[in-house]
Amino acid sequence: MIVLSGGTGTPKLLVGLKQVFGEAQLRVIVNTAEDMVVSGNLVCPDVDSVIYTLAGVIDKDRWWGIADDSFYTYTALKGLGHEERMMIGDRDRATHILRTELLNRGMSLTEATAVLATKFGITAEILPMTEDAVSTVIITPAGKLHFQEFWIAHKGEPEVLDVQFEGIESAKPTEAVINALMQERVVLIGPSNPITSIGPILSLAGVRDLLKRKKVVAISPIVGDKPVSGPAGKFMRAKGFEVSASGVYNCYKDFLDVLVIDKSDRCGIEAEGVEVLKTDIIIRNAEDSRQLGLFLFDYLHTDLGL
Ligand code: GDP
Repeated sequence: MIVLSGGTGTPKLLVGLKQVFGEAQLRVIVNTAEDMVVSGNLVCPDVDSVIYTLAGVIDKDRWWGIADDSFYTYTALKGLGHEERMMIGDRDRATHILRTELLNRGMSLTEATAVLATKFGITAEILPMTEDAVSTVIITPAGKLHFQEFWIAHKGEPEVLDVQFEGIESAKPTEAVINALMQERVVLIGPSNPITSIGPILSLAGVRDLLKRKKVVAISPIVGDKPVSGPAGKFMRAKGFEVSASGVYNCYKDFLDVLVIDKSDRCGIEAEGVEVLKTDIIIRNAEDSRQLGLFLFDYLHTDLGL
């Protein structure tokens, strides 16, 4: 089972998918357009959230970093006059240090991610979308901000005029990503930000064309006229999409077969030839995630005969 993922909504769903489908059955293609170097180490926010979630160590308040981490290094650096853009915990930092060390030794990001996943005891396949550097920038009236600057330093407050992915034109999906997409019949798009998390994966050369040949099932990250959390609403509006389940459909309509929306939602896109399924898509805890996982499992097995 292939899942396209960002760093919050889809990881929440992975908790249930892991229980229902079995962890070793999961192949997660993860956005890397929010990656950045902090104090010399490569931080891959979405890849790390997927690893930490599957390993059961994610900090569920922030949905990034490791639960109950300490902040000695962050605090000591601040004392030395070096304040980092993100409050990185000590154990979380160990992941970034090892990743950077492995890359410096000549491994690819895909290989380094596999090593890290194994160290965390993960049997799912975690595939960074590309080996090439892609960087999400948010265009605001005051200028260009890196995604993390916009979201953390500016608390997502500036008006958003546009969202761009620097480096995307020359970025290629990895061979592992292409092989995984070619091998599987069904692709799940988790409830992640359609613009900044799933958008970069879809923008890689050939990915949309591959998806047209698959049964693609997406879970909406929007309920009613709002995202469950985060800045997806602002980004969708800036890109000309309505903030609604039907807006999510429009982001994916060239390849989407099935859209899973909240049971409280009205959508009105059935006439467009996409199948719309309704259930509770707000994941408050592990049991909600398991229920949504079971819903997807039943649909895929009963209706699609998988
Ligand atoms: P990011 O990398 O941190 O931006 O993470 P994602 O893109 O993976 O997740 C952010 C998106 O997840 C937002 O658009 C949210 O609306 C959505 N989201 C968060 N929690 C839930 C949830 O419980 N259910 C659903 N359906 N979507 C969620």
